[in-house]
Amino acid sequence: HKGYSFHFEEVNLSALVRLIIQRFQSAPGLKNKIESNLQEGIFLGADKVAFSLMLNNILENASKYSPENSIIHIRLQKTESRITLTIADEGNGIPDHEKRKVFQKFYRLGREETRNTKGTGLGLYIVKYIVEHHHGKIFILDNSPQGSVFEITFQGE
Ligand code: ATP
Ligand code: MG
Repeated sequence: HKGYSFHFEEVNLSALVRLIIQRFQSAPGLKNKIESNLQEGIFLGADKVAFSLMLNNILENASKYSPENSIIHIRLQKTESRITLTIADEGNGIPDHEKRKVFQKFYRLGREETRNTKGTGLGLYIVKYIVEHHHGKIFILDNSPQGSVFEITFQGE
């Protein structure tokens, strides 16, 4: 069968993440404030197109499921050989018992703010698929005092 064929190359992840954020930020009508804290000079064997789709899906959700003027905070850092990318929002968060389910195909939370937004429930399914093809891991944590944190880790050199 035919699927997406990944094209991996050595990518300056710091530069790629900055570019994705810049594009996201310059889209008309963005209701959030974006803050980022990106460590320079982080490299990863990655598929740029897939990686961009992955980060965009998470940023889209962070905006879609959070209030007007709230902050979306993006952080990229490398400690020892582990690369960590986090996207934190100030929305209503995701309850513990739903944290794994949101990665399933077509899964959407039953709450009102989800019913009031359009979506297919495929975004995070695709996100997880792409992260796993980069040998990465993705977790959802709680932001404080409210919201979700998507934490993605990759093994660098
Ligand atoms: P789309 O396919 O257009 O992305 P979607 O946004 O509904 O549709 P997912 O991105 O897969 O689908 O997200 C699944 C569900 O998880 C969402 O419907 C929403 O209920 C919940 N969700 C995702 N991200 C967040 C977030 N940052 N804060 C709160 N809830 C979220
Ligand atoms: Mg989505």
